[in-house]
Amino acid sequence: MRCTLLNPGAIKLLERLSQSGFQAYLVGGCVRDLLRGARPHDWDVCTSARPEEVLALFSGETVVPTGLRHGTVTVLLGGHPYEVTTFRVDGPYSDGRRPDSIRFSSNLKEDLARRDFTMNAMAMDAAGRLYDPFGGAKDLERGLIRCVGEPGRRFREDGLRILRALRFAAVLGFSMEGETARSLRQNRDMLRHVAAERIQAELLRLLPGPAAGGVLRAFPEVLWVFWPELEPLRGFDQHSPWHCWDLWEHSLHALDAAPPEPPLRLAALLHDVGKPGCFTLDGEGLGHFYGHAGPSAHLAGEMLRRLRLDRATLERVVLLVERHHLELPPREPVLRRRLRQLGPEVFFQLLDLQRADAAGQAPDIALPRRSELDRAEAMARSILAQHPCLTLKDLAVNGRDVLALGVPPGPAVGRVLRRLLEQVSEGGLPNEREALLPAARALITSPSDSG
Ligand code: ATP
Ligand code: MG
Repeated sequence: MRCTLLNPGAIKLLERLSQSGFQAYLVGGCVRDLLRGARPHDWDVCTSARPEEVLALFSGETVVPTGLRHGTVTVLLGGHPYEVTTFRVDGPYSDGRRPDSIRFSSNLKEDLARRDFTMNAMAMDAAGRLYDPFGGAKDLERGLIRCVGEPGRRFREDGLRILRALRFAAVLGFSMEGETARSLRQNRDMLRHVAAERIQAELLRLLPGPAAGGVLRAFPEVLWVFWPELEPLRGFDQHSPWHCWDLWEHSLHALDAAPPEPPLRLAALLHDVGKPGCFTLDGEGLGHFYGHAGPSAHLAGEMLRRLRLDRATLERVVLLVERHHLELPPREPVLRRRLRQLGPEVFFQLLDLQRADAAGQAPDIALPRRSELDRAEAMARSILAQHPCLTLKDLAVNGRDVLALGVPPGPAVGRVLRRLLEQVSEGGLPNEREALLPAARALITSPSDSG
């Protein structure tokens, strides 16, 4: 089979290696994706050539000795990077993360045997012939994630594989083969040996997956290893007519209903994480969680910092969780103010989060709530279509104009501009220099601005 998705650079690379007497194959994720009919996003090649032989063979091209110790050289062909790795056998793993040593090999099957799952342990040559000693193609067809070799041993070698299995299940919608599932749960504590950054990277790919909610529902205890804060949500009855699910189910429904982008999926999963700590039951048997958004945002921040999430994403998630109850009614003056206070990006993310939150409620509550949010969105879009003045950048005057009116450089300049922006965005002043300059002059001379 010569696959139409096979990329010409990859074929050229394989042919160059095999014409020089080496074995060379595409391997791993790109073979899996080719067989699924999906376009691979990166191309890995495995070969019997040693790294120095690869470097010599491609000395006319740009080659980067990415990981010589592990046998990896990156070859750039037509501006595209190809990772070329020498057949390798991993030595014992004593830290639950990485092999203590590796040795190079000239045997393809040995190289495939060190790989994590059967669907990732296939190779393809330049003619499109498949090498599949562990039954990966059959598992791929059945949508099954199965470890290569004995699952318990493979998860104990490298704890990250536990989360990789969940990530592939969430992204591809695959099921976990029975023994793989059982030993993944049993060995979940191996994740404690894995660096926070690696956990974070897998989680950020898992959560946007179309089957993320189902995977977390099936394997919650894996998440609890690094996020024990989620454990109390499961089975937590909200004692509320607005909710038909416990807190965990509610969070999973919100997760699945949120747009598939990491900040929104994280905010949806964590938006109620502070609820158990705020629970009260009134005389009528109704549950309340007064002020839970603040504690939820606080916990979410701690959980994300633990995984060393980048600051911009972390701050965005915390802000969304903190404001997840902010009212966004379909009323123009309120929406104008919210658009100015939050900025359009956060505003629409908050609408998305509120929609996701509603999807996790009882249907008779969810439907009218959803249509109200849809109306607010339509109204906000039509406000934006009129190019309203929402930020200082949109104002027809700037800091230089205010300085030219005699305001000394410093915070007073920003204060004047902000007062103008408030008046313009609420309709009190047109956004025109002819109107803004006299208004600025009046602000400067008025005693209320002297502070
Ligand atoms: P994607 O690139 O879509 O994330 P992938 O399967 O290509 O999927 P990579 O991380 O690019 O994942 O790894 C390339 C290949 O290396 C995998 O297909 C697998 O064969 C092997 N591999 C990666 N990580 C591990 C691991 N932790 N343990 C064993 N084999 C692994
Ligand atoms: Mg890959």
